[in-house]
Amino acid sequence: MPFHIFNTLSRTVEEFTPQNPPEVTLYSCGPTVYLPQHLGNFRTFLCWDFLKRALKFDGYRVRQVMNITDVGHLTSDEDAGEDKIEKTARAEGKSPLEVANHYTELFLADWDRLNMERPERFSRATEHIAEMIALIEKIIAAGYAYVTKSGVYFDVEKYRGENRFGRLSRQSLDEQHAGNRLEHSPDKHNPHDFALWVLNQPNHILQWPTPWGPGYPGWHIECSAMAMKYLGETIDIHTGGMDHIPIHHENEIAQSESATHKPFVRYFVHSAFLVGKTGAKISKSAGKFPLLSDLPGAGIDPLAFRIFCFSAKYRSELVFSDDGLRAAQGNLDYFREFSRNVPPEAAAPGAETPGWAADYYERFHEALDNDLNTPQALAVALDLVAESYRRKDFGAWPTLIALDAVLGLELSRYRETALGATISADAQKLMDERAEARRSRNFQQADELRKQLETMGYEVKDNRDGGAEYRRRQV
Ligand code: AMP
Ligand code: ZN
Repeated sequence: MPFHIFNTLSRTVEEFTPQNPPEVTLYSCGPTVYLPQHLGNFRTFLCWDFLKRALKFDGYRVRQVMNITDVGHLTSDEDAGEDKIEKTARAEGKSPLEVANHYTELFLADWDRLNMERPERFSRATEHIAEMIALIEKIIAAGYAYVTKSGVYFDVEKYRGENRFGRLSRQSLDEQHAGNRLEHSPDKHNPHDFALWVLNQPNHILQWPTPWGPGYPGWHIECSAMAMKYLGETIDIHTGGMDHIPIHHENEIAQSESATHKPFVRYFVHSAFLVGKTGAKISKSAGKFPLLSDLPGAGIDPLAFRIFCFSAKYRSELVFSDDGLRAAQGNLDYFREFSRNVPPEAAAPGAETPGWAADYYERFHEALDNDLNTPQALAVALDLVAESYRRKDFGAWPTLIALDAVLGLELSRYRETALGATISADAQKLMDERAEARRSRNFQQADELRKQLETMGYEVKDNRDGGAEYRRRQV
């Protein structure tokens, strides 16, 4: 089965076909770096790591770009209020650059702890000002933007007149903005118009010269400019949290397509929220939010959070709960214990995989191809381990390692480290000698070596096929 994914543009699960197979271009809206990224943010970023790995599992080569917004995202997504980064900078008595650098570092450290593959490029907004200005010039030249004293605005009415605005959210403009009080700058032709570039804000610390005067970019234009610079005018997949559908992504489409007259995105993919027990979205504005660094203190490994997110579909809300995290930790422990139990012969390069394991590989693959059904894929991987124990056949280890390319738990490395840490070189030598003694049917010597190993603190379990398992006894 080819890969299928829910496209917000069509509101259906579609078969995925990239423009230039085997390459897939993927743009993912990234963080605004004015506070630490919370576990809700990482739920969304993890979804795209699963997506990317699932596409690679299918044989695609994925070129992912993710922006880091270090200027221009105002406290309201509607371009009202203060610049989020400058607000933190003033509160902490730092420069905007210091704030952005600090939170970018935290973000990247957590990214790596979750074993997410880094995109081909993280692109910072402040390093792409020239591209943004060039894109705005193109939009003005095409007649979809106008320059005023307070900024350059996108002309939503003009775009809507061509029946184009609202395609993604399927809402009228009034519906899209319901609940948000739009700031009606007297310069705007229409309250729905949004800023491409902000002018005449002398208190804003970061300013760049432009043909219209000094100022700073709007948040939406950043993504369009960086996405098109690195991935071309039409991108295969664009991702983001569901909150981006009605404003940010609608605006990205409008800006990009009015400049290029080409479809900006072929598949829009959106993730659902991580919510608290009351069902409320975990958000920075709520003041208190869970961080990855909170988990180890509660006995939860960052990779257990990875499994926790894998155990829900990207389009379903996920409730953040102790029980859920503990269950995920239990699954991580189960995979790790299995990894330690795999005997050396089953983990040796070129070890043969039994026929029964192939079915699990297929089922895992099918689950991913079916709109990234990660909970089902996880169930298959857990079943593979259970079946190995039932059959007392560890030959499925290479299959589990193949699935781990998407699970991302680094089980192979874990096994090496765990065994390396627990089996000393002396003991390994005795184990090798014992394997040789058993092969040559010298059972007396094998028994003596067993006793020596037991005295050294190892449990020895012989398998019928001639192999053996060694584990350090818990003390
Ligand atoms: P921000 O740094 O606020 O721009 O958010 C970065 C990404 O995290 C965006 O794609 C948001 O849609 C996403 N996001 C924010 N809050 C949550 C949440 N509670 N659950 C899942 N994703 C979220
Ligand atoms: Zn974006």
